[in-house]
Amino acid sequence: MTFSDFNFHPDLEEGLLSMGYKTPTPIQKESIPLILQKNDLIACAQTGTGKTASYLLPILHQIAQTDKKYINTLILAPTRELAQQIDQQVEGLAYFTGISSIAVYGGGDGAIYETQKRALREGVDIVIATPGRLIAHLSSGAINLDHLQHLVLDEADRMLDMGFSDDIMRIISYLPKQRQTLLFSATFPPKIRSLANAILQNPVQVNIAISKPAEGITQQAYLTHDHQKLPLITSLLKDKTYQSGIIFSSTKDKVKELDRALRKTGIVAKAFHSDLDQDERESLLNAFRARQLPFLIGTDVLSRGIDVEGIELVLNYDVPPDPEDYIHRIGRTARAATTGTAITFVNERDQRRFFTIENLIGKEIQKINLPEELGEGPLYQPEKKVHHNHRNNNWRKKKSGPARSSKS
Ligand code: AMP
Repeated sequence: MTFSDFNFHPDLEEGLLSMGYKTPTPIQKESIPLILQKNDLIACAQTGTGKTASYLLPILHQIAQTDKKYINTLILAPTRELAQQIDQQVEGLAYFTGISSIAVYGGGDGAIYETQKRALREGVDIVIATPGRLIAHLSSGAINLDHLQHLVLDEADRMLDMGFSDDIMRIISYLPKQRQTLLFSATFPPKIRSLANAILQNPVQVNIAISKPAEGITQQAYLTHDHQKLPLITSLLKDKTYQSGIIFSSTKDKVKELDRALRKTGIVAKAFHSDLDQDERESLLNAFRARQLPFLIGTDVLSRGIDVEGIELVLNYDVPPDPEDYIHRIGRTARAATTGTAITFVNERDQRRFFTIENLIGKEIQKINLPEELGEGPLYQPEKKVHHNHRNNNWRKKKSGPARSSKS
């Protein structure tokens, strides 16, 4: 199957050609015909599957054939980075169609807000927005969505996790009831189901169940005690095996702490988090993309939608709280069928959670021995109940754990 089978508008085909897309990905094969038939859709798909183009292409095809007088499509996304990336894909795919788009997100100074407001007033076909900022524009009357035909919620689970549920419902109250709604989410907890029930009409469901990381990723884990983590990361990053990578930690505070600690080691790594203003975040990402900044440190917000080619290493400084996030995090490497390495530090407390991840991906992840100078780490005993504050560290006595492999 190729994209020409969809009979897209010729200007859109030209855009596809210029973007270098030849074969539709599985989510695209399934979703595009359903969206063209005007169904509401629930799609379970993660970043990296081509999900963005799977909704953009049929929408662009439809807009290309209509009078472009009103805002036709609203795409809601959890973060400004994702909104910008979606906007870039619209720009690429729609380049020859004359379809216009704007990304509307918070942060920045008053001038940006005014520019957004002016662009919205002057008219645009597609608005890609983070919920908070869109509400500001809706309240000020800068934006009229009366003629909207498509609503897309991208990474809906993340939007709910970030507390946007009320904002989303409020935005929807401004939209015409007669519209096509598409909901994309990587996970399907009950709150996503209730959101879908509330806002979709007779949706069809597409499930690209790839809770499996890409083949090109080498996955490894180190079993460590907490005090061994900093010397371990220092020794891994100092030996220059990896030129570029993302280091994940579970909270913003931990990210900042790691940033401070690494600074003392001479490793060039910068923290990326929501306390930075938009210019700072963008300049960090640009430096990272340009390979001027070798390592970024971030939380799971960074794991979604950051589309940077050639990341060699994803290092989980701790085990992500949600196993699906593990897949998102390590999906930052080995994009577009290249190879990459994902390393996870697993302390005693996180072993059980790590075991859940191994179950989810259906394979045991290779455990690497700590460098000798760091001493021994804990054994891998994920099913053992962990007692904190115990002096008598029983598992130390057991010399070989089930999944503990030799150094390699
Ligand atoms: P997404 O899952 O939407 O974040 O897309 C992941 C990456 O795949 C983006 O860089 C897209 O530009 C790219 N992409 C999407 N669809 C295709 C396709 N059919 N062929 C090649 N690359 C694609």
